[in-house]
Amino acid sequence: MSDSIFDSAKAQLDKALKYYSIDSESELRLQTPKAALSVSIPVRMDDGSLRVFQGYRVRYNDLLGPAKGGIRFHPGVNIDEVKSLAFWMTFKCAVVGIPYGGGKGGVTVNPKELSLLEIERLSRGYMSAVADFIGPNVDIPAPDVYTNSMIMGWMVDEYSKVSGEYTPSIITGKPIALGGSLGREDATGRGGYYALEAMRDGLGLPKGKLTVAVQGFGNVGYHFARLAAEAGHKVVAVSDSKGGIYTDDGLDPKSVHQVKEESRELKAAYCQGSVCEIRDFQSISNEDLLELDVDVLVPAALENVITEKNAPKIRAKVVVELANGPTAPIADEILFENKIHVIPDILANAGGVTVSYFEWVQNRMGLYWEEQEVHERLKKKMDAASFEVLELSKEHGCDLRTCAYIAALRRLNEAVKAKGTLRNFNSRR
Ligand code: GLU
Repeated sequence: MSDSIFDSAKAQLDKALKYYSIDSESELRLQTPKAALSVSIPVRMDDGSLRVFQGYRVRYNDLLGPAKGGIRFHPGVNIDEVKSLAFWMTFKCAVVGIPYGGGKGGVTVNPKELSLLEIERLSRGYMSAVADFIGPNVDIPAPDVYTNSMIMGWMVDEYSKVSGEYTPSIITGKPIALGGSLGREDATGRGGYYALEAMRDGLGLPKGKLTVAVQGFGNVGYHFARLAAEAGHKVVAVSDSKGGIYTDDGLDPKSVHQVKEESRELKAAYCQGSVCEIRDFQSISNEDLLELDVDVLVPAALENVITEKNAPKIRAKVVVELANGPTAPIADEILFENKIHVIPDILANAGGVTVSYFEWVQNRMGLYWEEQEVHERLKKKMDAASFEVLELSKEHGCDLRTCAYIAALRRLNEAVKAKGTLRNFNSRR
C-alpha cells in the first residue's frame, strides 16, 4: 500500500463516491489541487548564520469560496502532507456549510530548536514569500500544529506592510489586539465537544458521566479536555509528544495545563491559584493511551496514529478526531466492523475554521461580537452539521466519515452544477 497521505485522503473520497454519486465534472474538479506554491525562506539566525527553510502553500479548491486553512511549522511537513491537509479543509468547510474552499500551508522546521526571534523572522519571511499567492478573497491562512496567535500577529503585520494597507482579514486566529475574535482560541476543542454532545445519544453512548482519554495536550486537546471535565466527564488520561499520564480518579485538565506551562512536564495536579499539589498518577505511553478502555478516545495530535496494527486493540466506544487524519483508511474499516464510531476530523475539528470564518466576517464588518455570541453561533453550526451527518448515517448505513463526505459532496456538487456542467449545457440547448 502507498504511504502517501494524499492517497489515503483520496481513498476516503472514493469510498463516499460509492455511496453518493455526483456529476462526473464535480468528481473531476475534486481530484487535484487548484494551485500549489513552494518557496525557500532565508532566515538570519541569532548567531549571524543564514538558514534557508522550505515552505509551501496549497490552494486545493475554491468552489464554495476562498481557500481557507492553517499554516503548520513541523519537521515532517512536505508537499504530500500539505496537499492532503488542504484537501481535508475543502471537505471540512463544506461539512459545516461555511463559504470557503480548502487550503493549507507549512514550513519544514522544528520550531522547538529556534529562538522566539528566529521564529518571528521565519514567520515574516514565510508571509512575504507567499503574499502574492494569498489574499482575503483568495486564500486565508490560520494557525495549525506548532503555530499560534502570536505567529498570526507577526504574519498579519508583515502582510499589511507588503500590501501597503491594514488587512486583518488576510489571516485568522490573530491576537485580539490585531483583530482576532473572542472565542477563537478554544474553538477547535469546543467544536469537538459540541459535536460529541450533539451525537452522543444517536451513537448510543451511556447517559451521564463519560470516561475520556486525550492524545495530544496542545491547544486543541487541552481545551477539549477542559470543557469535558467542566461538564462533569472524567478525563482519565492525557499525553503530549513525550508521553502521557493516567489516573482512574480523573484529572483536572486546567491544573495539569498550569503545571505543564511552568515545568514543561505533564503531571496529575490540583491547583488553587498559583499553588499546585501533585497527585498520584501513572505514566502511560502514547500507544497505550490509545488502547485504554474508555468511552471516548480523542486523538488530538498528528495524522496516522490509528493504524491497521493498533485498530483491533482500540476499546473506546467513540473516537473524536480532533487531529487531522489520525485514522488510516484500513483502520477505519476495522473500527467500523468493531462497532466503534469515529466522529471524523472534517466534522469533529471544524470548530476552529468555523470561528475563523466568524473572525473574517467581523474583520470585514469592523464590528466585533461578544464571546457568548461566538459560542452560540459555533454551537448552532456544529449541532446542524452533526445532526445532518447522523441522519445520513441512518439513511445510507455508512460510517460517520463517509456520511460527512456525503454532506460535503452535496454542497460542492451544487456549486459545480451552478457554475455550469456539460449536462446542464446539453439540457438547455
Ligand atoms: N488549522 C485548523 C484546521 O485544520 C484551522 C484552520 C482555519 O482556521 O482556517 O482546521
